[in-house]
Amino acid sequence: MIDAKKIIAMVEAIAKKIESEKDFLTQLDNEIGDGDHGINLARGFKSVEEKLPGLEDKDIGAILKGVGTQLVSTVGGASGPLYGTAFMKAGNACKGKTELTDADFASALEAAIGGIKMRGKAEEGEKTMLDALCPACRALKEGLDSGKELKEALAAAVDAAAKGMEHTKTIIATKGRASYLGERSIGHQDPGATSSLYMLQAMLDCL
Ligand code: ADP
Ligand code: MG
Repeated sequence: MIDAKKIIAMVEAIAKKIESEKDFLTQLDNEIGDGDHGINLARGFKSVEEKLPGLEDKDIGAILKGVGTQLVSTVGGASGPLYGTAFMKAGNACKGKTELTDADFASALEAAIGGIKMRGKAEEGEKTMLDALCPACRALKEGLDSGKELKEALAAAVDAAAKGMEHTKTIIATKGRASYLGERSIGHQDPGATSSLYMLQAMLDCL
């Protein structure tokens, strides 16, 4: 069972992880984009951290929605609206809830991914954050369905996200700035898939 306090701890852990990997994310975005991914996300999550105390007494839906709104308004580029929508959709899926079952947690991740697909008009296989998140969500659900504890299932999800992130090195970007490079995007790791892996890792570290 995950309560609102745990959700806040997860968001804080994500903010710390993004801050500590800021330079690497920016370096990846320098190779196939405009070099702002780490800087943008770190700025956004810093402002989220500042907003968290005001969200502490809210339900999980409202907390996640607040995080999403803050990201949309503070992170520039493609990833702000994408991650912002993800958190807002996860918030919708958890509306009014003060505790999440393992299945609720998986549904929230699924809703977040649905938001990214809708907002980015993207699917798995286009060298984006979805290439880490979609396999992760599948692994999470498979793990829970086969009777694993959330921690174990999320660990499997992190492994799947890491593989998905590695796979982005081998494919051509067809969405976002990296798509301007066409074939030259091959060989480079997608920054968004990398930040998504970090977020999942941070969540796992809280369990
Ligand atoms: P920008 O490209 O506008 O500078 P960022 O650098 O913050 O934005 O984020 C780039 C990341 O966003 C990419 O690495 C990719 O994972 C993700 N991305 C870009 N466009 C899309 C899209 N249409 N759908 C899903 N993810 C996308
Ligand atoms: Mg960029």
